[in-house]
Amino acid sequence: MTAQEALKTYFGYDSFRPGQNTVVSALLSGRDALAIMPTGAGKSLCYQIPALLLPGLTLVISPLISLMQDQVKGLSAAGIPAAYINSALTENQIAKALQLAAQGSYKIVYVAPERLESPAFQAFAALADISMLTVDEAHCISQWGQDFRPSYLRILDFIDTLPKRPIVSAFTATATREVKDDIAETLRLQDPEIVITGFDRPNLYYRVEPTRRKDAFVADYVRSHPGESGIIYCATRKNVDAVREILQDEGIAAARYHAGMTNEERRQSQNDFIYDTAPVIVATNAFGMGIDKSNVRYVIHYNMPQSMENYYQEAGRAGRDGLPSQCILLFSPQDIMINRFLLEHKEVDDLDDEAAELLRERDNQRLQAMANYCQTTGCLRNYILRYFGEEPAAPCGSCGNCDRVYAETDMTAQAKWMINCVAETHGRYGKGVVLNTLRGANMARLRELGAMDYRSYGKLKDCTREELNCLLAQLLEDGYLIQTDDQYAVLRMGNITPLKQGAQVLVKLPPKVEPAEAAPQRHKASKAAQKGKGGLTGDGAALFEQLRALRMQLAQAEKLPPYLVFGDKTLVDMCAKAPRRLEDMKEIYGMGERKYAKYGQKFFAEIEAYRQDHPTADLGPQL
Ligand code: ADP
Ligand code: MG
Repeated sequence: MTAQEALKTYFGYDSFRPGQNTVVSALLSGRDALAIMPTGAGKSLCYQIPALLLPGLTLVISPLISLMQDQVKGLSAAGIPAAYINSALTENQIAKALQLAAQGSYKIVYVAPERLESPAFQAFAALADISMLTVDEAHCISQWGQDFRPSYLRILDFIDTLPKRPIVSAFTATATREVKDDIAETLRLQDPEIVITGFDRPNLYYRVEPTRRKDAFVADYVRSHPGESGIIYCATRKNVDAVREILQDEGIAAARYHAGMTNEERRQSQNDFIYDTAPVIVATNAFGMGIDKSNVRYVIHYNMPQSMENYYQEAGRAGRDGLPSQCILLFSPQDIMINRFLLEHKEVDDLDDEAAELLRERDNQRLQAMANYCQTTGCLRNYILRYFGEEPAAPCGSCGNCDRVYAETDMTAQAKWMINCVAETHGRYGKGVVLNTLRGANMARLRELGAMDYRSYGKLKDCTREELNCLLAQLLEDGYLIQTDDQYAVLRMGNITPLKQGAQVLVKLPPKVEPAEAAPQRHKASKAAQKGKGGLTGDGAALFEQLRALRMQLAQAEKLPPYLVFGDKTLVDMCAKAPRRLEDMKEIYGMGERKYAKYGQKFFAEIEAYRQDHPTADLGPQL
């Protein structure tokens, strides 16, 4: 069987996604590989398909129990023999699994890194026919990353104990240079095929909503997206409980998740969410690692996270199935202050002064970049891509900012006053002092600094705070002003030559409405982007709901999360194609042979039934 055939037979997909084929071919030819691909890009298939086709067993090191269980259930549903070995099993179960593995009953075995040090496991490994060792979430090996796991460092020792060195492959979504080098070095990869795909996730729609009425926004949004699965991230436990209560008052089954709950409570919440019993979960950032739920349609941040790294990881849990999904950040300037406070009071016990200072500086830079994301009027997608080192060519045309109707205003005159003000402060003060001076605020702090005697004092008193913020953002972007990276974020002069030579300063200003009231309708493309049903309408959408109910029923009978029966995209494809012959169900996206045999008839019957109940139904192109 070729890799292409395996893709179709087991997973029901017609073609590889970018990067997948390169990794698969390298591994099948016996070469090591390191793949850096964003969340949802399909890293699992990159090792699962070679695992199927290589002669022996593939061991997959994975950091989280829930991840392993999810993967094994998914593989079993696709007809691939797999197992996991971790602390969720009893000693007896582990012995049994190892015995079966030794007999060659599995193609893939997932293990936690700690397990590699257990004598029983080592005894097994010494005799087993291990073709490949795969390190998933490989960034856990790097001390630079936030998910560092010391036991990952001992993977290499384990490889060295094996009678024959297996092919080694490593996968992660974390793209920084340090992490990449760390992985290749620590695992001592041999002439690896390195595949790095772009960071963009085109199906994610980014949006920043400046609003003071966050509760109302969340309630509205959830209410107007019934049945859709979503995560709402809050900064504190208190917020989690409060937001969840608001949703419950609306009659919405929302789960919650934070570190103040017992393990059992958290496990229950997580299951309610994964099994779609609770479509929505309100959580702190303690939630999400190890959640591979593919049909999360939106991720709302009730508070601004501390860094773009955190944001991208959390927001990235939306839309793993590739269907349009929303990532919305509710922003209020207060969030910046709260985060700054938290950083200042962060415990840095076991660090010496210099290291602690360095850490604080980095934290501040990250926070500043996050705050700028919330305040930019430029393309949000490009902001993210640039932050992660890519150079996008043009605005994406499909994010909240690209879709927002901005008025572009010539603010050259005001720009000059702002620059003058920074000159008058001799680059000693931050944004607060500068903007308040320009607005002519009557504050003790300004009196103390003598700012009231500046020529620029009060010169921009007719501008709103928001206009001044936009102007400042533009001047920073144009390089006329510079903001220091340290915690003081002081404003300094940049290169003002172009301005002296007559350049204009054009500023994009948001329309003058109270943001919360104007909420979602303001975005011209949001209607299309919000469609989690792949753009289905009318009969298509109605059929989708029926298929979704059938999926739920089957999933409950088998105690499987519904998305492991079929992903949303598979249901969408069924509605779009609405086959008239059973065997045409084989052409549906994600319909592998095992699933066709198991579910094909049932879903086909449901489509037929819909046609009979709705003789005039207008369903998809006829196959
Ligand atoms: P990652 O580990 O990179 O975050 P996953 O391996 O969990 O992503 O894959 C995300 C989703 O994409 C899964 O639902 C998977 O079935 C799907 N997928 C992977 N490869 C393909 C492909 N070639 N065609 C269609 N869907 C794919
Ligand atoms: Mg993965």
